[in-house]
This record gives sequence, structure tokens and C-alpha cells, in this order.
Amino acid sequence: MSGDLRLRLGCPCGGRLEWTQAPGEPGPGRVACGGCGEERTLEPGRRDEEGGLWACQVCGHPELYSRKDFPAALGLGIVGVAAVAAPSTAYLSLVGATLVDGLLYLFMPEVVACYVCGVEHRGAAKEPRHPRFDREIAERLKYGRRAVMGRPMREGGTANAPDPEH
Ligand SMILES: [Zn+2]
Ligand SMILES: [Zn+2]
Repeated sequence: MSGDLRLRLGCPCGGRLEWTQAPGEPGPGRVACGGCGEERTLEPGRRDEEGGLWACQVCGHPELYSRKDFPAALGLGIVGVAAVAAPSTAYLSLVGATLVDGLLYLFMPEVVACYVCGVEHRGAAKEPRHPRFDREIAERLKYGRRAVMGRPMREGGTANAPDPEH
């Protein structure tokens, strides 16, 4: 079961392009920036009937990475509140905050981002899974053959690839 895929892409103007795609539906073709109104043509890659994401839905690149959708401000906020409460709780509030942060992190959904265009996909199906960010892939895409650690792209991109070791 999966719901709509929600997409968010930053624009050079500082604005955002945001849209949704229902499962099994093609993308909208074009999207406009909420800030400057500039339109962008989408060249979506493969997405299966179950909502599985096999490639970027903006540029079609098959290398994506997963990261937790955890707003840093939220984590800092919790720690901040705990720090204020610390003297009156024998510092147990700090222990609690660490636990809460850890639990929140575990239950936060994952965002799948594209190495090339940076679009964030939210609400994709669990399968295939894309591993977490791999600096080697990012460097290869940025510098091409000049990359020091230029390993070639895995066949089929990052779908169901193992997490990087480093
Ligand atoms: Zn813009
Ligand atoms: Zn992309």
C-alpha cells in the first residue's frame, strides 16, 4: 500500500517546486516554481505500479539516496527545552531528550533524494530501497572521470543496493 508521491525541488531563485503524483500515474510533465514561476520539464524515470521508485522523477537518473526526514530544528528544540529543565530535574531531562530524539529518528519516514538534481521524493514505497548517501557516487557525478574515487555506476542504479561501508 502506498499513497501519493510528494515531490519537492529547490529552485535557483530560492523558491520551491512542489507537486504530488498518485501511484501508477505519470508525472505532470511540467511544474512551475512557486517563487519565480519558471517552468521545468520533467523527465521522470521508472516508477512501478506499487509506487516503488527506481529512478528520479525529475531527471530520470537511477542513483538516489535515502535519508531520514528529521528536521534538525526539531531535534535542537527538544534538546533546548531539556537543557532549560535540566537543573530542576537532576539532569534527567537531558537523558529523556536523547531518548526522545532517538525514537523520533527511528520512526521518521525516509526521504529519497536524487544525486543529480536534488529533488526529494516523499511517500515512495519501501521497495526498492535506496541506500544512504554515498560520497563516492556524489563525487563521480560531480567530477566524472576526474573523481579520485570514481567507481562506475552500479547496474540499474542504487535500487536495492547495500549501504555504503564508509
Ligand atoms: Zn524559482
Ligand atoms: Zn534527479
